[in-house]
Amino acid sequence: GDYSQKIDYVFKVVLIGDSAVGKTQLLARFARNEFSIDSKATIGVEFQTKTLIIDQKTVKAQIWDTAGQERYRAVTSAYYRGAVGAMLVYDMTKRQSFDHMARWLEELRGHADKNIVIMLIGNKCDLGSLRAIPTEDAQEFAQRENLFFMETSALESTNVETAFFTILTEIYGII
Ligand code: GDP
Ligand code: MG
Repeated sequence: GDYSQKIDYVFKVVLIGDSAVGKTQLLARFARNEFSIDSKATIGVEFQTKTLIIDQKTVKAQIWDTAGQERYRAVTSAYYRGAVGAMLVYDMTKRQSFDHMARWLEELRGHADKNIVIMLIGNKCDLGSLRAIPTEDAQEFAQRENLFFMETSALESTNVETAFFTILTEIYGII
């Protein structure tokens, strides 16, 4: 039989944020329901796709992962080109990764389409006892900057599908 699917939309979503916050594992969890503890710095793979149904339409999510380019300003404009969504990821146990969100946002806004849908993600919520960023602080930042916000764990699979589904649904809503 012919199992090929008609794709109604392709949405490019980029992952950004400091190294080691869990971008690659969030993507592995979402795209393949996998997680690895000793994930090496990403090499080579540009993006992964996952097809889902939103409002009875077939949406192919094309999620881009930085290939170890997390140094400030090292992510090229090609990475942002055509993106309709962005996930700004910090590690909730690492203060610095949250403090850097402002400049990642500035970088994103300098490169991306002005209608891009942005979600702030506080990852590693399974490490609750090591939390460095109170939920309210992140909420306040997100509200001020007009971002969606969610806390996730790629390890325990908490909110990962919800986060991706939410951003994709929002993108669908504005096209
Ligand atoms: P990236 O550099 O942002 O792509 O980060 P990685 O996805 O490579 O993850 C960096 C490290 O954090 C790896 O050791 C992961 O196993 C770990 N990690 C990623 N997500 C989580 C999470 O939700 N919880 C915990 N405890 N560790 C995580
Ligand atoms: Mg990575």
